[in-house]
Amino acid sequence: MGDYKVCCQGCGSVLHDLATSCRLDPGLPRAVYSQKRLEIADLPGVWRHLAWLPVKSPDMRTGAGSVCYQSQGLAREIGLQRLFISFSGFWPEMGASMVTGSFKELEAAPTMQRLSETARPVAGVPGGHNAPVLVVASAGNTARAFAQTASLTGRPVVLFVPTSSLHRLWTTVEPGRICLAGVEGDYLDAIQAADRLASRPGFLPEGGARNIARRDGMGTVMLEAAATAGVIPDHYFQAVGSGTGGIAAWEAALRLAGDGRFGSNIPRLHLAQNLPCAPIHRLWTGPGGESPSGLSEIWKGLGCPDEMYDDVLFNRNPPYAIPGGVEQALRETSGAVLGVANDEAEAARQLFESSEGIDILPAPAVAVAALLKAMEDGAVRKEEMVLLNITGGGVKRSWEELGPSILPCQMKVRPGHPADDLEKQVLEFIRS
Ligand SMILES: *Cc1c(COP(=O)(O)O)cnc(C)c1O
Repeated sequence: MGDYKVCCQGCGSVLHDLATSCRLDPGLPRAVYSQKRLEIADLPGVWRHLAWLPVKSPDMRTGAGSVCYQSQGLAREIGLQRLFISFSGFWPEMGASMVTGSFKELEAAPTMQRLSETARPVAGVPGGHNAPVLVVASAGNTARAFAQTASLTGRPVVLFVPTSSLHRLWTTVEPGRICLAGVEGDYLDAIQAADRLASRPGFLPEGGARNIARRDGMGTVMLEAAATAGVIPDHYFQAVGSGTGGIAAWEAALRLAGDGRFGSNIPRLHLAQNLPCAPIHRLWTGPGGESPSGLSEIWKGLGCPDEMYDDVLFNRNPPYAIPGGVEQALRETSGAVLGVANDEAEAARQLFESSEGIDILPAPAVAVAALLKAMEDGAVRKEEMVLLNITGGGVKRSWEELGPSILPCQMKVRPGHPADDLEKQVLEFIRS
């Protein structure tokens, strides 16, 4: 199970198992599994899709999965005949048990599992563990998912989070050895600080979009939809920051199409971003020829991400124009990127919550608003099958019912903070 090799999407060369990049070109690594048919294991949560995850013997304490169901309420409100909702979050009546309330749990469990299975012992590893310490950068939801997963398994993890997002860091279990670093800056500043620490021996970068365990974990949303509906959807809607979930949905659909039993259709990706702080929207719909780094001044001028409906959707450096990246996924699926204003997202959130009966995070409200727009534009016909990825929800219920505790911030980091000082502080914490 989970038998695979890792191939570069640029040059096709086979990479070593934990590679997050290729020496020859900027292509994304992708797992090519020997299993070619969707095989559902008799296991809980995300581990049902073990055959298409880069792990072997999962830790059953982790790995809550998304649930997929056919919508009645919202479908009737907006006039769709075959609307399927993927829900990632806490909704016990529906069997959804992601207590941290977002689909980042789909990435955290396979990533930590894979690390414990494949990492070799490293001399001088902090904390006496036989695997390097994972380093994660996050605007909040990813860090919360890793904090929960790491607390369940007892492994240490280092989390770099913008100080403005520290309130999003909590666990519903006794916190393990979680080194939480608050970064004075935005998400890209957090990524850069994490990169500096992760380049030191004994540490390993989580890898973001380049991490195959992360993408294939997110891809289980598409697998669940095909298993529930019996076919590959015509359309896929998701709110994106990096666009990793969009890439993952496309890759999972390619695997399903290779199976053949679910049709050969590849869904159109409809990726949604929150205007005006919408880098992927700009790259896809703008004048062309721009690079993410060239646009940084624009976002600063617009005051991004302060006024956003959801700042988890702001990533200044998405994996866009690289082989296997967001641009290719959009091109090959005849995809679209939709821009959603704050008031449109708020109206969509209210419509979703009243028609489906569960609270959702701001990011998936942006996806609901994008679906409404696409229907207005005639991009989706009412008889077509739509998969709407509700990437986070049930946080209110999780708070009320599980009484989580806020994680303490262990260190403050400024942009450009030197790596040796980061390392010193982190090691002091992990060894204490
Ligand atoms: C991270 C996140 C997204 C965007 O994910 P991508 O990495 O861009 O695919 C959407 N919704 C929620 C709730 C998130 O936490």
